[in-house]
Amino acid sequence: MKSFKFRIYPTRKQTETLQWTLDRTRELYNAALQERRDAYKMAGTSINYYDQANQLPEIKEIREDYKEIHSQVLQDVLRRVDKAMKAFFRRVKSGETPGYPRFQGRDRYDSFTYPQGGYSLTADNRVCLSKIGSIKVTLHRELQGTMKTCTIKREGTQWYVVFACFSPLARKQEVEAEVLPENGEAVGIDLGLLHFATLSTGETIESPRYFRKGEKKLEKLQQALSRKKRGSHRRKKAVQKVAKAHRKVRNQRADFLHKESRHLVNAYGFLVFEELQPATMSKRAKPKQDEKGAYIPNGASAKSGLNKSINDAGWGQFVQYCIYKAEDAGRTVAQVNPRYTSQVCSGCGTVKKKTLDERWHSCECGTELDRDHNAALNILRLGRSQQLAMAVEAPGL
Ligand SMILES: [Zn+2]
Repeated sequence: MKSFKFRIYPTRKQTETLQWTLDRTRELYNAALQERRDAYKMAGTSINYYDQANQLPEIKEIREDYKEIHSQVLQDVLRRVDKAMKAFFRRVKSGETPGYPRFQGRDRYDSFTYPQGGYSLTADNRVCLSKIGSIKVTLHRELQGTMKTCTIKREGTQWYVVFACFSPLARKQEVEAEVLPENGEAVGIDLGLLHFATLSTGETIESPRYFRKGEKKLEKLQQALSRKKRGSHRRKKAVQKVAKAHRKVRNQRADFLHKESRHLVNAYGFLVFEELQPATMSKRAKPKQDEKGAYIPNGASAKSGLNKSINDAGWGQFVQYCIYKAEDAGRTVAQVNPRYTSQVCSGCGTVKKKTLDERWHSCECGTELDRDHNAALNILRLGRSQQLAMAVEAPGL
């Protein structure tokens, strides 16, 4: 599946209809979520997608406005609830204590999907949506494959259409073209806040400076937003500004992560990361330095939730990008248990306890190196022994 995203230009009337549809679908989403919660809490039973989908005709009898929305769009809303609940139960089953799937606010719920039909593209650059109308679109690149789904998405004040296309042939060619020659080089990678990544070779990957600029701006806009009165026009404007700044940071970050993961996968045949766990990530929040090199207390970065979520997402996304690029290239990514990776000496294996702000690893055995470099070497060693153990367990493979 490949996604193609284009800006659409609805008229004022159409914008109202799109927003109205979003509001109705969000209302349905929240109601369906509520029903599932109640069933789970009161009776300990679970309601499935079909139970809820079967109620749609009845809902339309009571709430006639829902007749104005394509029925597959409504079914897709229920499928989203189903997905959120399944993810929740999966996490409960694996012993975690996840929060209940969230009810969606007006600013959060920003898309609806035609999962099969009800939409089309016309030759005169318009996208036709059932029950909504024909909207102008700019197709800045060619669609490849067969259109499978069509999602309408609101980002700030702008609207987009996203076509998910299926093209087995294009995918196959892409994979074949990307397979890289065998490469015996291995690398351990420590992800942190001070350096985005430190490699077992001692090299570091730094977040570009413009991230900090973008994040600072975002922080300021967020503060401005928090001072605006709820429901006011100014608040609405401020929300849009935050969304726009957030989008920019997210896009810049994705570009950076794609570029750096490409470098690593091209250079190494075996890449080892720590397993990222939300709990570990906040625990190992390393001290942050400001531009002049002075340390900012850890609380400063932990306090700003948005900032933190951007950093966290960055690491997880980076590992994901490496994994799928490596898969395409016929290379391997391993993830190891992060315990003690920064405490154990990479030279002799003894444990050298360090506080979070001790940046240097120094050991009686003569090993002297940067804390993160030491961790990256440990990560590499763990990855190698994990690989070896797997080879022993499955000698035939
Ligand atoms: Zn040592």
